[in-house]
Amino acid sequence: MTLPTAQISNMNQSPTVKLLMRHVQPSHENDACLSVLEIFQENPNLFAIPVVNSAGTPVGIVDRHLFVETFIKPYTRELYAKRKISEFMVENPIVVDMGTTIDDVSKIIIDAGMQHMVIGFIITQNGLYVGLANGHDLLNEIMQRKQEGLFYLAHYDQLTNLPNRLLFMDRLTRALGDALRKKSSVGLLFIDLDNFKNFNDSMGHGFGDQILIAVANRLTGCAREIDTVARLSGDEFIMIIEDIENQNALETLCERILDSMKSPWEVMGRNVFLTASIGTSMFPKDASEPSELILKADAAMYEAKRGGRNAYMHYVEGMRLYSMDKMTLENDLRLAIERNEFQLFYQPQVSVDNGSIIGMEALIRWNHPERGLLTPIHFIEIAEKTGLIIAIGKWVVKEACQQHQRWIWAGNNPLRISVNISPLQFYQTSFCEDIRSVLAETGMEPSHLELELTEGMFMHNIDNVVKVLNELHDLGVLLAIDDFGTGYSNLSYLKRFPIDRLKIDQSFVRGIESETTNMEIVRTISNLAKTMSLELVAEGVETADEMNTVGDCGCDFMQGYKFSKPLSSDDFLLWRNEYETKRESQHIQLQAI
Ligand code: C2E
Ligand code: MG
Ligand code: MG
Repeated sequence: MTLPTAQISNMNQSPTVKLLMRHVQPSHENDACLSVLEIFQENPNLFAIPVVNSAGTPVGIVDRHLFVETFIKPYTRELYAKRKISEFMVENPIVVDMGTTIDDVSKIIIDAGMQHMVIGFIITQNGLYVGLANGHDLLNEIMQRKQEGLFYLAHYDQLTNLPNRLLFMDRLTRALGDALRKKSSVGLLFIDLDNFKNFNDSMGHGFGDQILIAVANRLTGCAREIDTVARLSGDEFIMIIEDIENQNALETLCERILDSMKSPWEVMGRNVFLTASIGTSMFPKDASEPSELILKADAAMYEAKRGGRNAYMHYVEGMRLYSMDKMTLENDLRLAIERNEFQLFYQPQVSVDNGSIIGMEALIRWNHPERGLLTPIHFIEIAEKTGLIIAIGKWVVKEACQQHQRWIWAGNNPLRISVNISPLQFYQTSFCEDIRSVLAETGMEPSHLELELTEGMFMHNIDNVVKVLNELHDLGVLLAIDDFGTGYSNLSYLKRFPIDRLKIDQSFVRGIESETTNMEIVRTISNLAKTMSLELVAEGVETADEMNTVGDCGCDFMQGYKFSKPLSSDDFLLWRNEYETKRESQHIQLQAI
């Protein structure tokens, strides 16, 4: 469990000097030296004695060493015994009120000279003496707090106050050790937010940070006191669930988490939708080592994402592990274009009205020499971070246009191809020119090319964005907004842009027939699309129920596994021929597809 906020803020805020206060009986300024000497002799641990006047106000302090030394010399006792202690005390001692913080008193002492650190200081309340504090204790306290601060910095995530990767690894190792002794099980949840990047892109990092803080709170709210919720990096969270009975218990927790994400997120005065994908693994069933357990939960999380996000998945034997060290992946990615390792897959889009194929989306795949066929989830983020996406994106546009032409030359009717464009690519000043020259080079009819953009691209430097979009539109290519609804959808901005289509994100489509909120969202988007003469595509349609419902809600086109998974160009052609033959010969209804 994480430290409660109160504890955290106490750690950062200095306690008061009360913490160091010792109750030492003060001497009176008129007391005789000898009596004070006797007190020191009786109390060998007494480092100093405060001196007060008749009102109880401190007037000085007697330092043990200075004072006792005076009496070691011959005849001093006889000479000084009857003198008043006020003659031997250090005047102007440091006097602070009980409410003074330790940080403040440290500053006072440093400013006044370090000898006060040795003697100590006097604590008062309403000006009257109440106790004494020792410089040694003060130093100890400062050191300890420094160490706590350093420990905190090293072990906690500064943004969310959750344990970080280091502390998480430590807790996990300990939890597995305990479980081994108790013969119990430990569950691990790997949680990754869906489309989080869209928020960062569209609303800026400050907004993204607020979302992460809110997510941290909701996750903590779903966990028990003994569980650990940690932030690994970016939008990745992880949970250690100790003493878990069985997989069903993990399932209940996953459902609770996904449920908790559903209620509206009000961030900086705006309502946003947010979902997460969760992968789970269990000790000792799935793995005996911490790192292996993490890899397996991570693999399950990827499967949940692949399955359409907003879902959880348990690790099952044989799931692919992606223990990718990012450096190697980045190096491989640099070489991938030269080595011709990328390939485009195509996924058909069909019309709701009559089931005819109206186009396809080109989706990139990477034939990695050792890791096999990788989907974008494993490399697009790195390609974007490193800027490699610009070269990759150029390759994609060109390859899609060339493939389109190859199909036409082979005698097929032209179909529109949609290509995904990354923000970095879009912001290149040469972007429009690049598209124009690919069209010229390949001879492709511009209206057969559609560019899929994301909402985030439209949030900054709007005037320039409008200019680029108009130029693209003038070229004759079509423009679509992908994953619509997942960023901050300020619908009014759409009016300014020459957009042709909206693609509703699949998180709204999944199980839509039984999710009234999603149905309402899709209906609202559909009404808006109609008033603006935009076409509407529903993504991720997997079942007949989803197909029927998105049709009822006003979508014009559909894309999803219900019709076909993304296919290689050869397989796409086979699928297309088979589908069209079936449609023509049987006059099939969509229901039968
Ligand atoms: P997207 O553009 O929203 O593409 C749709 C994704 O949903 C594809 O995943 C597709 O395989 C998947 N999908 C389609 N129908 C279904 C369904 O019925 N059920 C489920 N569960 N999933 C379905 P994919 O190919 O893994 O691509 C993921 C994302 O990667 C794309 O999302 C797109 O944002 C990005 N991407 C793909 N190709 C490119 C590219 O060439 N350039 C850039 N910049 N991004 C790309
Ligand atoms: Mg797309
Ligand atoms: Mg999409």
